[in-house]
Amino acid sequence: MDLCRLETVKSLMREANINFKKGFGQNFLINPCVPSDIADACADKKEMFILEIGPGIGCLTKELALRYEKVVAVEIDKGLIPILGKTLADFDNIKVIEADILKTDLKKLIAEEAAGREASVCANLPYYITTPVLMYLVESGVPFRSITVMVQKEVAERLCAPAGSSEYGAITAVLGYYGKANMLFGVSADNFVPPPKVDSAVVRIDLYPAPLYAPKDKKLFFGLIKAAFEMRRKTLVNAISSHYPFPKAQIAEALASLGLAADIRGERLSTEDFCRLSDVLSPMLS
Ligand code: SAM
Repeated sequence: MDLCRLETVKSLMREANINFKKGFGQNFLINPCVPSDIADACADKKEMFILEIGPGIGCLTKELALRYEKVVAVEIDKGLIPILGKTLADFDNIKVIEADILKTDLKKLIAEEAAGREASVCANLPYYITTPVLMYLVESGVPFRSITVMVQKEVAERLCAPAGSSEYGAITAVLGYYGKANMLFGVSADNFVPPPKVDSAVVRIDLYPAPLYAPKDKKLFFGLIKAAFEMRRKTLVNAISSHYPFPKAQIAEALASLGLAADIRGERLSTEDFCRLSDVLSPMLS
């Protein structure tokens, strides 16, 4: 069954008596090259466990199962579960779980399902929860090797943006703590049914096996990033001083000690810069 044929998608949904749910970000792929390319890019060896988020009717799930040893696909829409039972019936290395990914205990899932294999995540993400899902994955404590996701093109550019560029944002700096994001390829809106209003792109985040940066006070480190980007137009000194009890002169001194100008804006600081700044400021908090 060609799960990327428009007619197949429509007839499967008609038979199950369901419609595309905008609220669940349901835009299904109808170009078979795309799930195949995503599956190729998400890992480099067969002996992997792949966690898929939002299988839809299973077009990407199938491609993953053809390449990797074990796939678990978590789908929130209970209307799609009988369809997945049908479309993936030939595979004995796929398990579909009906659940909200944001309420799934990922450590438990991996312990129960991965059987010691290295794990990666792969998804054509529902765009309404891109950032919460990425944060949930990296904060889960599961040592995923990589996270390969299709997201809105602008979000993909943000995830991969260098410090100082206009696309660089809090999510870029935060994810930079966990891994390195790489832009893989773009996917135009006409590859989906229904077509979304925006184009998409696929990004793979290669997670660091051990953190590259080790801030002494992680809470302050993440807090500084949040403060810097909440007030993007302000200088970093002003942004930090409106969130923390540091005198402005002390923040400027801390910046100077790192070779950074007193009037610098937060968007110019890399993840490493935020780590160094939090290490200079943290002893002054107590
Ligand atoms: N993988 C399919 C494809 O590429 O054609 C479908 C992708 S569609 C963009 C997003 C999928 O995620 C839908 O099947 C939707 O029901 C599911 N979904 C939305 N929110 C979810 C959540 N919180 N947890 C798990 N799945 C979710």
